Order: sequence, then C-alpha cells, then structure tokens
Amino acid sequence: MNTMMRTDCRDLNQEELIRLCVELGLPKFRGRQVFQWVQHKAIQDWDEMKNISVLDRQKLQKGLTLQPFTKVKEQVSRDGTRKFLFRCYDGETIECVLMDYDRRKHRDRHTVCVSTQIGCAVGCSFCATGLGGLRRNLSPGEIVGQVLDITYIMRQEDPDFRVTNIVFMGMGEPLLNYDAVLKGIDLLNHPEGQGIGMRRMTISTSGVAAKIRQLARDNPQVGLAVSLHSANNASRNQLIPMNRRYPLEELMAACQEYTEMTNRRITFEIALISGQASREAAEEVGQLLKGQLSHVNLIPVNPVVETGMARPTAREIQEFAQVLEAMGIPVSVREEKGTDIDAACGQLRRQLECE
Ligand code: SAH
Ligand code: SF4
Repeated sequence: MNTMMRTDCRDLNQEELIRLCVELGLPKFRGRQVFQWVQHKAIQDWDEMKNISVLDRQKLQKGLTLQPFTKVKEQVSRDGTRKFLFRCYDGETIECVLMDYDRRKHRDRHTVCVSTQIGCAVGCSFCATGLGGLRRNLSPGEIVGQVLDITYIMRQEDPDFRVTNIVFMGMGEPLLNYDAVLKGIDLLNHPEGQGIGMRRMTISTSGVAAKIRQLARDNPQVGLAVSLHSANNASRNQLIPMNRRYPLEELMAACQEYTEMTNRRITFEIALISGQASREAAEEVGQLLKGQLSHVNLIPVNPVVETGMARPTAREIQEFAQVLEAMGIPVSVREEKGTDIDAACGQLRRQLECE
C-alpha cells in the first residue's frame, strides 16, 4: 500500500513544484512545466500535459494529486452573472460568482467572487454563510481552483476567456484564513500562472484589525475592503459579532495605519437594511470616516429568508448616499448583480442544503 501523502498540485508555487520534482527524480524544468499547465492553462487532467512524457506523468502522480472541483450547479442571471456551486474532494460545497460576463458586449473585465472558507465563524446577522458556522478553511489550491475551474469552463465556449479581477467576497472571512489567502493571491498573481495584477484583487474583511495591520506589511499592493455596515458599536455588535473583539476604535486605528503604510484607499462596505438606513446612521458613518482615505460602497441587503431582513426604499438609499456626499465622502451604490439567482454569499449553498 502506498502510504505516501500526496499533495494537491494547485497548492504549490513554482519553487515547491521544482523541489518536489527533484525529490521524485525528475528534472527541475518539469516543475516549471507542471506549474504552467496547472496555474496558467487550468488543465483538469494529467493527460492534458502534452509536453510531459507518460512515464514522467506517472512519476508525478506518485507525489501529486490534480483534483478539480465537481460542478454541482451553474446558474446564469439575466444580467450575465454566473454562479457556480462546486463540490470539493471531501463532499463540502463552495460557491463562486463570475460577474460582468457578456460575450456579445466584449467586455474586457471579468471579475470572480471567490470563497475563502466553507461557512464562516463570524456569524453576521444578515449573512447566509454565517448561519451554519465555520466548517473548515479552504486551502490555497482550493482558493485558486475556483478561478482555474471557472476559466476552464468558460474557455469551452470562449477560448480567449480570462479572469481579470478577483474579489474575496464569497463565503468566509479571508483574514481568518490569512496564510492560505495570501498564498492563493501570490499564485494568481504569478506571471506564469493567471498573471492577475495585485491591484486587481480585493480582500473584503468583517474587520479583523490585527490582520489588517499585518496585511499592510505582507502585501501592500492588494486591495482592501472593510465591511463597516455601522459606525456605532452597539448596532455593529448586533450585525457583526466580531465587533466585540475588535470594536470600531481599534478597527479604525488599524485602517489608519494601513493607509499610512500603503497609501491605499480603503473601500468601506455598508449593507443597507430596511429600518436601519437612517439619516443619523449615515451621519455617524460620515463622522467616523472623516480624515480616512476612503470610498463608501452602499449595498442594499440581499434578502435571506432566515434573517428576515429587507432592503430600504430607493429613496432611503439615495438619502443615505447624499448625506455622505455632503460630508465629502466618495460614495457609490453597488450595482445589483445576479439577484435573480441568489448571488449573495452563501445563498446557493444553503438552498442546496434545504433541497
Ligand atoms: N467575510 C468577508 C467577506 C465575505 S462577505 C466580509 O464580511 O467582508 C462579502 C460582503 O458581502 C460583505 O461586505 C458582507 O457584509 C456582504 N454580505 C453578506 N451577506 C449579505 C447580504 N445578505 N446582502 C448584502 N450583502 C451581504
Ligand atoms: Fe462571515 Fe462575511 Fe458572512 Fe460575516 S458577512 S458571516 S464575516 S462571510
């Protein structure tokens, strides 16, 4: 019986693959070739590695696995947004969303919303992902694999397809799976992989202040979005239990430090919920963000059956934006994408569990 643990080749960077090839008695350049097949071509099967002999492929398979996700479901929205539900090797399911895809319009921007964990420990009151708690972290290979598998699927109908932008806004809290997310970003950025620019990738966090500080040091290029939702500790505690651990004072101090170190503008996300999107709430946000290099993104909440939360009226949304604008804070209202296909994070997975 072969007791040797096999590694997922999507988890490994070029140096690690080269080292493994040497251990398996293969020439170093094989490591580079495998990296390109896996991370650039997004291949799904060893047989697709055309420039590697069958014998060498067999040797590689002694140390490595290549395990793409199984596509469980794909939904296409009227606006072109596509949502994928993938099954992992252990039967868990994850969601990812391809936005801005419309072949007829030849758009050159294709954004994928990537999941970083299965479930989430933070448990925000409006979020479908948080309802079931955290099941496990995703590995770097599983994080990257979402982009690779979507690329592979889309290339069947559009051979020139490539993902240009990534937002870590799917299931899970990226900064609580920090090392895997940062490695995933490096893999996606590699010029012999997908070559996606650091500035075209954005991490969204519910506010893990300690890790925001660390990110400023480890990767000052990648974009940062902070899910603020409220500028008032009492109501933020209700929305994001993480706020008890890192209250607004500490979160904003970390954000200040982040912008001082990186010179980067932070996007602050605010989910607008019916009954809570008041003029006073907007003024509190404006006060809190005074002096902070920021952009506010207003997200009318996606209704999730279990949370019972609804969107404010269009007029209330407009007023919220106007208050911030008047206070000199750049603000936009997020374009609705894929609402007809439950594109809010965690919704499709829950639907599957309920079926
Ligand atoms: N855990 C990270 C990233 C994933 S959630 C975070 O919380 O930032 C990505 C974004 O979707 C967050 O801004 C989150 O607050 C928002 N979100 C979650 N559920 C939502 C819903 N039902 N409607 C609108 N936005 C939602
Ligand atoms: Fe987790 Fe983000 Fe959902 Fe909150 S909004 S439960 S942090 S995934």
